[in-house]
Amino acid sequence: MIAGPGVYICDGCVSVCKTIIDRELGGAENGEEGAEGSPSFNLIRPLEIKRFLDDYVIGQDHAKKVLSVAVYNHYKRLNFDAEQVTEASLLTQGSEYEDVEVEKSNILLAGPTGSGKTFLARSLARILDVPFAIADATTLTEAGYVGDDVENIVLRLLQAANYDAAKAECGIIYVDEIDKIGRKTDNVSITRDVSGEGVQQALLKILEGTVCNVPPQGGRKHPNQEYVQIDTSKILFICGGAFVGLDHIITNRSDGTTLGFGAETTNEMKGEEVMKRVEPEDLVKFGMIPEFIGRLPVISVLDQLSVDDLESILLSTKNSLVKQYSKLFAMDGVKLRITKDGVRAIAEKAIELKTGARALRSIMEGITLEVMYEVPSRDDVKEVVIDRGVVEGRKKAQLKKKSPNSEKKDAA
Ligand code: ADP
Repeated sequence: MIAGPGVYICDGCVSVCKTIIDRELGGAENGEEGAEGSPSFNLIRPLEIKRFLDDYVIGQDHAKKVLSVAVYNHYKRLNFDAEQVTEASLLTQGSEYEDVEVEKSNILLAGPTGSGKTFLARSLARILDVPFAIADATTLTEAGYVGDDVENIVLRLLQAANYDAAKAECGIIYVDEIDKIGRKTDNVSITRDVSGEGVQQALLKILEGTVCNVPPQGGRKHPNQEYVQIDTSKILFICGGAFVGLDHIITNRSDGTTLGFGAETTNEMKGEEVMKRVEPEDLVKFGMIPEFIGRLPVISVLDQLSVDDLESILLSTKNSLVKQYSKLFAMDGVKLRITKDGVRAIAEKAIELKTGARALRSIMEGITLEVMYEVPSRDDVKEVVIDRGVVEGRKKAQLKKKSPNSEKKDAA
């Protein structure tokens, strides 16, 4: 018996208490480690992710599905690797899958400019609870040359994760303009292709999974610097690019051959339809090195947006442009009304500009500039009406006045 002031405890109880305390402390330590070392995530199911994307992104069903599934699988794999004991993880224990290691499937998004590649990635970032970074491939060069080292794209992720390396290792990186780092020429050149093939070579290892040294301050690497080591094997990469001219490469490959019974020849198909038949060999002809394409096993081709799609982008997404501009006017106490044919005209104008939805904002800026300039200094305006004539530049926007007797007067 161990005696204290008025209390006694036996050796048996001491050892039981020690076990309890050890377990509690050990649990807490492990718990902390678990939170830092192997973060766990809420699983958002593909259907829910897609439904969320639908609120913001018009069309592009295939790309949305591909991304939803990829992201879900990414989470799932990470949760599983974190060795959380779930019903499913128990099911695979001792089964034929126990030693199977699920590899990540990096994604390639190909599609015309302004079709929503970056926007999809951005929208995805809103629901994700994992660190997410967007990088631009055109700023990269091979190590040692003017430009960014490829490690800098991992640095972005590290920053998004608040410099928590373990969190960053489970993140997602979107690399834009991946088509711009295609090999510049087929000829073997004596000069090095430091911003094209060189970058692809450097990206290879990061895409595949390697431990890379990231300089926490960014910029060029130099020998006397401290590095944060990041293992990229769990980072999901989504690459996007317009791949202008790829349709011709595909057409040339399959020229004169009919694809399946009764199929049209590629000559008669639209560029977009042709793009959907992309094979890795076409991307290699385009200038991507085969090893690079091999590391992007999931390819999704985005559709060119139609007039109807552009109309929906203007009107019906959660953050639609018309809603945004209406809010701007509402802040001045003025109602913005764009007529149905006005919206149609904006969409048609955007199609002519051939930059997809990207043109919409500049068109909106153009047509609202005059009224945005004038209206804030006038107290008598109640409503601004924009119709097809205004969009086509034939007339000025109609300003409806507040007082009832002068309502029809066209102040502009
Ligand atoms: P890119 O395909 O060239 O990366 P972006 O994603 O940058 O094009 O698109 C430019 C802008 O156009 C986005 O910021 C977004 O507002 C709008 N946009 C493009 N595609 C869509 C879409 N499918 N649905 C809704 N908005 C879109």
